[in-house]
Amino acid sequence: MRILLVEDDTLLRTQLRTALQGAGYSVDEADNGRDAQFLGETEAVDAVVLDLGLPVVDGLTVLKRWRAEGHNMPVLILTARDNWHEKVAGIDAGADDYLTKPFHLEELQARLRALIRRASGLASAVLQCGDWSLDTRSGRVTCAGQPVALTAHEFKVLDYLMHRPGVLVSRAELTEHIYAQDFDRDSNTIEVFVGRLRKKLQSPSAHAARIETVRGMGYRLVPP
Ligand code: CA
Repeated sequence: MRILLVEDDTLLRTQLRTALQGAGYSVDEADNGRDAQFLGETEAVDAVVLDLGLPVVDGLTVLKRWRAEGHNMPVLILTARDNWHEKVAGIDAGADDYLTKPFHLEELQARLRALIRRASGLASAVLQCGDWSLDTRSGRVTCAGQPVALTAHEFKVLDYLMHRPGVLVSRAELTEHIYAQDFDRDSNTIEVFVGRLRKKLQSPSAHAARIETVRGMGYRLVPP
């Protein structure tokens, strides 16, 4: 999953980026409203963390422009303390949730997970498909109850597919959602990650899920 992180406070942005990357997200960053607006319009992000007090163009204006253009990714706004009307204005402008500064990183992460889940129509923090399970809180993956160790990229591919069981996902879409903008992308590596996931998540059980290759189209996570 890809997060667009918009915050002009360099220290806070660095802390948030480190935490989000540690939680398995790919992170694109902007420190002003103009760059943020552009990235939100052009990149396939799964959620946005948007500070409202931004240079060049303020966060509220950026959010309104996205929504007016039909960009409907989940947006979590960061608001200043004791500024309740900023929250109201943000929610009215199309924000899905808000956090007041200062906040705990754990709370930000929990809210982001919930927003991403809801966008996929999922209710539980533990994603289940057959005997595969992925706990979005801990990043723990199990197959038939046994823990499975995945690399960061394997996890990102599985996480994206587990949020979309039964849905055909193209290689291009996967590539867009697992790599941040400045990353050297190669869609051929997706095939490698999927191959490794199949090996690591093999189970003799009749309840095993599988990742199906749809020729020339992409992949689909198939429940048993
Ligand atoms: Ca700010």
